[in-house]
Amino acid sequence: MDRLSSELTLGILGGGQLGRMSAMAAARLGISVVIFCPDEDSPASHVSKETIIAQYDDKAALQKFSNKVDAISYEFENIPVETIDYLNSLRQSPVLPDKTLLHVSQDRIKEKTFLNEHGINTARWNEVSNISDIENTIKQWGGAEFILKTTRFGYDGKGQIKSSLNDAVLGDFLKETTGQALIMEELVEFSCEASVIIARDIEGNSETYGPMLNEHENHILHKTTVPASLSKSIEDKTIKITTNIARYINLTGVLTVEFFICKDGSVLVNEIAPRTHNSGHWSIDACCISQFENHVRTVCGLLVGSTDRHSDATMLNLIGDDVNNIPALLDAPHACLHLYGKKQARDGRKMGHITFLKSKGA
Ligand code: AMP
Repeated sequence: MDRLSSELTLGILGGGQLGRMSAMAAARLGISVVIFCPDEDSPASHVSKETIIAQYDDKAALQKFSNKVDAISYEFENIPVETIDYLNSLRQSPVLPDKTLLHVSQDRIKEKTFLNEHGINTARWNEVSNISDIENTIKQWGGAEFILKTTRFGYDGKGQIKSSLNDAVLGDFLKETTGQALIMEELVEFSCEASVIIARDIEGNSETYGPMLNEHENHILHKTTVPASLSKSIEDKTIKITTNIARYINLTGVLTVEFFICKDGSVLVNEIAPRTHNSGHWSIDACCISQFENHVRTVCGLLVGSTDRHSDATMLNLIGDDVNNIPALLDAPHACLHLYGKKQARDGRKMGHITFLKSKGA
């Protein structure tokens, strides 16, 4: 480390659980955190030195935030690009990862175009805006089923449907999304889903976590297992693609790549998240240096740390009423509980997670 970290203050845009866990990692390094978000009582605010509660277009509040910090990052991708531009224009603290990545990952069409232009395979896709575009695409591709997604602001299955031409939900979806750009994707018959997280520092050194094996329920991540038990050649492909993406965009910070692993051994990128990821939460308990510590280190100008894993791990998300099962889940050996301080358990709301550790290879 080239600077005593207790002199540093990190600003984080967004107040959710990812910001909370980065703030906790920062605290371990003696780095103070200031959160900027529009919500009162956010999970990240509970563990940070200060929170500025304001809208993302409040320039006076952004100026105040910028004055207080040495580095700025974000914990979710739907921060308006104008907010980042304004913070950068103040020429005080650069926002990292830089705006190119945010721009690409906020829009599924830009994201797929970026990937394909760099020779990285994705599901076949087409930009569509009405039923006749969809019919024409089906004629071109063949097959019956497809996935339709809004190009922006989708997460955890929101803003997307699996459908076919005669499906009643298709008309409803097109009505609901009138005026929004849509992307149609071929339905990938994957054998499993995986992800890789990379942290890259200002000097271009990088370290990766995974690949992790991810299982979803109702489109929300339910379980992550590491190691993923994929073949060596598939592991290598996912790590190489992730490392290349980080290099292409000259990443400083953390990004995550989500993959479909196909039955024929080919690998498709589903999406890129410009941040730490739910599939990397196990790294808090199973690695000396977690994804959150590496997020803090890299955006604060410190060197990336080793991602070596001392234990194998399975992480279970606690979603909504799952919190009622905590006592039974904690009966398992080496269960590490993390709760996000959210007062109300609602359907689909991520309340916390549990990581179960076991000896490597056991
Ligand atoms: P996304 O919001 O794009 O990450 O999609 C959420 C989940 O929907 C993914 O993790 C997959 O399980 C599923 N999914 C998304 N796109 C496709 C696709 N083209 N083919 C098959 N499943 C998909």
